[in-house]
Amino acid sequence: MFARLTIACALAAVACAFTPSAAHAVSPGSGRWYWPVGTENFQGWDGYWVYRASNHSWHMAQDMPAPVGHDVYAVGDGTILESGADHGYGGVLVVLHKTAEGKYFKAVYGHIWRGSHTAVGDKVTAGQVIGRVNECRHVHFGIHPGKAYPPDNNPYRGHTYIKSKTYGWVDPVKYLRANPRILDYAAPALPVVASVETMDTATVLGVADGEVYWTIGADDAKATFARSLADDGETRELGADSALPSLDATRFVPAVAANSFTLADRLPLLTLKASSSSPLWGHAVTFSGTLKNAVGAVFVGATLVLETSPDGLSWSKVGSAKTGLAGAYSVGYVPAKRISVRVRFVAPETYLPAESRPTTVAPRPAIAAPVVPSTVREERRFTVVGTVTPHHTAGPSPIMLHVQRRVSGTWRDYPLVTTTYRDSGSASLYRGSPTLPEGTWRIRAEAPRDDLHAGKNSAWTGFKVR
Ligand SMILES: [Zn+2]
Repeated sequence: MFARLTIACALAAVACAFTPSAAHAVSPGSGRWYWPVGTENFQGWDGYWVYRASNHSWHMAQDMPAPVGHDVYAVGDGTILESGADHGYGGVLVVLHKTAEGKYFKAVYGHIWRGSHTAVGDKVTAGQVIGRVNECRHVHFGIHPGKAYPPDNNPYRGHTYIKSKTYGWVDPVKYLRANPRILDYAAPALPVVASVETMDTATVLGVADGEVYWTIGADDAKATFARSLADDGETRELGADSALPSLDATRFVPAVAANSFTLADRLPLLTLKASSSSPLWGHAVTFSGTLKNAVGAVFVGATLVLETSPDGLSWSKVGSAKTGLAGAYSVGYVPAKRISVRVRFVAPETYLPAESRPTTVAPRPAIAAPVVPSTVREERRFTVVGTVTPHHTAGPSPIMLHVQRRVSGTWRDYPLVTTTYRDSGSASLYRGSPTLPEGTWRIRAEAPRDDLHAGKNSAWTGFKVR
């Protein structure tokens, strides 16, 4: 229910003379969002959680002032979820938007004359004019994070009468400032991983096996030194005849002074973690991790590519993601079969390209519990049947029917019955025809792990043989 009595201004009968406009707001504001009235100066109008004594309520939005008829802009790209002629506002839109980090939120634009192309389901673009300010001379702008509607199922709610209940509404100005619409690529400074004092100007230097190496002098006076990268440990001099390990000059960038040098590390560290290594078939796995440099500084707005490979040799792109403000990314993928997955960093600039370690995921088939006749005769053949999803792309595959008998209060294994399931193209049936002696029994179907799928057992079905 929505109480019209709570409108903060008197609504005149609105003769909407709004004409379609492709115009856009002049420029984005904080976080590259377009502010609904083109400015983020709200001039003392009621913000989030302002108490209104007149009706004993707390305001759950930011009121953004503008003259009657002023353009109202979409803060970002989005989809119209609700388009209301009144709802206490004299016109209101609810738009689903998404942040650069992939978070959805719903924004309420209240007290507006709605523009054209603002029917439910219409798409809007960032900065697009979606309406005009009505006689209230301000836009009531509220944000409710997530795709789901508030618990009271009121997507228009602008205030609360109960101080402890926000129904999930947040401070819209703070939210937009904390969650940018666009993240520009920003790499951290190249990290110095070794800083070494030397007796003279170092010439050959590099890093191998966790140690930093350098050479001083030439010919007969040449000396080579090594020191651990990990700590400020002792410097050791290597014998004249000791061979220098091959130095990774691509990865480590030297800066040499008369009596010292530093080395910067160009290799980013890209981690990858799967939310599940064996999701149920048809369900997405979320791959997430971080992109940081050698000293843990994060890459913001870096483009990452999700790749899969059946053999670990040839890789193909199946998705992409961007790192957020904390260097973290998250991307979903639905594996159809057992496959290796990795993520790759594609915008190296001063850094080297980087790959995560691959991880393997394999979907679990869905197996229905076996269906057994209500009456099973001892030593008579009977039929056990059930379904497997998906159908097996490699053709019929073995399914084990695992049978157990109740003996002295415990379940004891009975020799397994093997069956194959028949691929009908849509639903696959497994079917077995065992004979069993009298007793109390249970049976389940077991799909063993194979090249394409993870293993999966059905639930048990109990039955009696008489
Ligand atoms: Zn308001």
